[in-house]
Amino acid sequence: MSSSSWNDFWKFAISLAATAVVVKQVYELTSGSDQKLSSLPPRSRGVTSLIGNTPLVEIKSLSKLTGCRIYAKLELQNPAGSAKDRVALAIIREYERQGKLRPGHNDVILEGTSGSTGISFAVLANSLGYTAHICLPDDTAEEKLQLLRSLGAVLEPVKPAPIVDPGQYVNIAKRRAQEISDDPLDDRQAVFADQFETDVNWRIHYTTTGPEIYQQMDGQVDVFINGSGTGGTIAGVSTYLKERIPSVRTVLADPQGSGLANRVNYGVMYDTVEKEGTRRRHQVDTMVEGIGLNRLTWNFKQGEHNIDEAIRVTDEQALKMAKYLCINDGFFWGSSAAINCVAAVKTAYKYGPGQKIVVVACDSGARHLSKFWKKAATYSSDLTLDEVLE
Ligand code: PMP
Repeated sequence: MSSSSWNDFWKFAISLAATAVVVKQVYELTSGSDQKLSSLPPRSRGVTSLIGNTPLVEIKSLSKLTGCRIYAKLELQNPAGSAKDRVALAIIREYERQGKLRPGHNDVILEGTSGSTGISFAVLANSLGYTAHICLPDDTAEEKLQLLRSLGAVLEPVKPAPIVDPGQYVNIAKRRAQEISDDPLDDRQAVFADQFETDVNWRIHYTTTGPEIYQQMDGQVDVFINGSGTGGTIAGVSTYLKERIPSVRTVLADPQGSGLANRVNYGVMYDTVEKEGTRRRHQVDTMVEGIGLNRLTWNFKQGEHNIDEAIRVTDEQALKMAKYLCINDGFFWGSSAAINCVAAVKTAYKYGPGQKIVVVACDSGARHLSKFWKKAATYSSDLTLDEVLE
């Protein structure tokens, strides 16, 4: 054998041995364990690169008891902890495209929100060189205020007021954006994010969340279930799925006190801007945060024609489901995820076994410790699924 053939032979033998060692290590690491080395995400850069591509997980307890396959899209695994990261980033990118936000210039993003969207904007503002200015009701839970404060957002707490009142926090956010833009002594630019009405919201779910679910489910989805806050998620995902799977059903999971379920099932909700806030402090009388509304938003309207049915879920059912999932599956989720799971079980019972059902788990229970989970934690760990639905 010539010396170059010997060289080739030894190179081949060494690479074979190296491969065997790697295979053995992977086998040892993964055998007998649920942890898959092969599914590691690739290296990435910066907080924005961590948004989206969230996992989809089967909820084993619910699948087993219903005979369906029930899955949750884990939006809570976005870097700022909710699906709103996608929307906040998409809104920022759209304003940058229009030249209304300039990265690194400390330009101001204004939003009126007491929920997850403010947290997403605060995180992204830090990463991209902006200021997040969040207007919110002055009785917002202390843990949320503290989180926003820790993130360095400018906070403007105002007295709770109906949406028709110029002093309502969303209206104030809009006005502040105008004031900063008009101030000749302020060289920053300012934009009003407007998550409820901007077209960017549902479209980002149409171009990312929907395709991810479709791909992760190998195109096999019988039912998609979600609540509606702005309506962006349900509109975007349902539109994408219906285009590809005409038989897919979309179900709205709606908390008590919200008018959306009646709108879907009976075509009646009060008027657009149905005098929100004219009667009581909280428009939608529920412990569930982030979903339910008594007015129609642009984003909800973009998906309304896709919604086949609405299921109304009581606070009691949501609280018990949250506890049930925590004890039986190890999932510590927020109130809107719990509502979705109640609707998933009701759908499973109504249409029978064999369906593939996908819900969204929008945020973690940690965001709801002082209110929803304070009560949920008091329920028995021995609840049965039938007791949850009572
Ligand atoms: N769950 C939680 C916890 C939320 O904050 C939101 C958004 N408000 C939703 C669900 C509903 O999402 P969307 O606004 O896309 O309807």
